[in-house]
Amino acid sequence: MKLTVASELNYGSMIRKLNMACGQEESTMLTDYGGIITSNFKGDIYMPGSNQDCIDLLLKEPGHRRFTCRGSGHSMHGRSIPGANKHMLVTSSLSQIHFSKPGLVSVQAGVQIGVLQAFLQRYGWFLPVFPEAIQTGPTVAGYFLAGGFGSHSPQYGGFWDNVESITCIYPGNLEPSEIYKSHDLFWDLSGSGGHSNCIITELKIIIKKVNSNSKYPMGLAITLPTLQPDRSSPIIWFTLFVPLANQQVLLRKYRNMLFTLSTVLQLVTPRSVKIKFCGRFPSFLEDFSVDLFAFSIGGRFPENQPDCAMLACQYIRDLADSLPNCIQYHSSELALDNLINLDCS
Ligand SMILES: Cc1cc2nc3c(=O)[nH]c(=O)nc-3n(C[C@H](O)[C@H](O)[C@H](O)COP(=O)(O)OP(=O)(O)OC[C@H]3O[C@@H](n4cnc5c(N)ncnc54)[C@H](O)[C@@H]3O)c2cc1C
Repeated sequence: MKLTVASELNYGSMIRKLNMACGQEESTMLTDYGGIITSNFKGDIYMPGSNQDCIDLLLKEPGHRRFTCRGSGHSMHGRSIPGANKHMLVTSSLSQIHFSKPGLVSVQAGVQIGVLQAFLQRYGWFLPVFPEAIQTGPTVAGYFLAGGFGSHSPQYGGFWDNVESITCIYPGNLEPSEIYKSHDLFWDLSGSGGHSNCIITELKIIIKKVNSNSKYPMGLAITLPTLQPDRSSPIIWFTLFVPLANQQVLLRKYRNMLFTLSTVLQLVTPRSVKIKFCGRFPSFLEDFSVDLFAFSIGGRFPENQPDCAMLACQYIRDLADSLPNCIQYHSSELALDNLINLDCS
């Protein structure tokens, strides 16, 4: 396991690399994709490369709330940024993939989903559900915990439907546990935004053939590059889920508030996708058992960012509250209660 401490010369370059991976090249403080929450974090940075490294870390840090996991920092609520007295566990050294069972690929937590997709396509395979809007972007664990839909969701459902199992490590149970879909915990973790007392180290992901000639590369194991820079210009996204039947009501209400919202957010074209119901949704969506309409409202803040961010969060929340059967996707979004600068000094 690599360990970087505050006194080391390469510490600053590591913070810069983490910021670049979430499109925040300019920031000297540790931040995330939203760029609103920043920290003068000076704690230790751990980069475990195996389940055993994670177990060793939990034994070394028995106070299980002592560290914060970070994938590629594409969530915007600051939960990938450690607070005071915490250390950071960056998953970038968990970067191997292994083809051990036809139709599946075992992927360590820190592999970025865009890097994985590009690799699979070279072998004639693809991930059924993939966030096309981000090129390299989220890690597979981050996408499971705080993402989960893409343009093929009308056909294949959520990412949750296309993961066979996750491997987790808990402070109280220092054996890696493989958690399958039959287990409630799988659904509690999916879309939860992550918990401070659980490290996901690996996912077994379902893959599809590009065509009938695609051969499964049985036994192939390879390490992929991680923490690839995100060169896109950051856009703040908020996503609302409603039953498909309610999409027109949502769109009408959105149009009615366009002027108000545009005073605090320079809006881009919203994105929407249907998510097929394949028998179960993650716990945060458990009220639904029908196909869903996911509607993402995006934009950039003008000057005076924190004030605009507060208001934008409020307006989106008001929109969600004004709709029956609407769930806002808090697990990766900016929220009113965490628009702060984290002081770790
Ligand atoms: C421009 C943009 C477009 C997006 N488009 C989509 C989209 O189309 N569809 C979609 O579904 N989502 C989309 N997202 C959301 C994205 O999928 C999530 O933000 C996702 O969490 C990012 O993954 P990450 O690796 O960057 O996670 P991070 O932001 O690093 O972490 C997210 C949370 O998970 C925790 N965590 C991370 N790794 C682990 C681990 N191994 N074990 C335990 N906890 C962990 C962190 O502590 C944090 O709480 C988009 C985001 C952006 C910025």
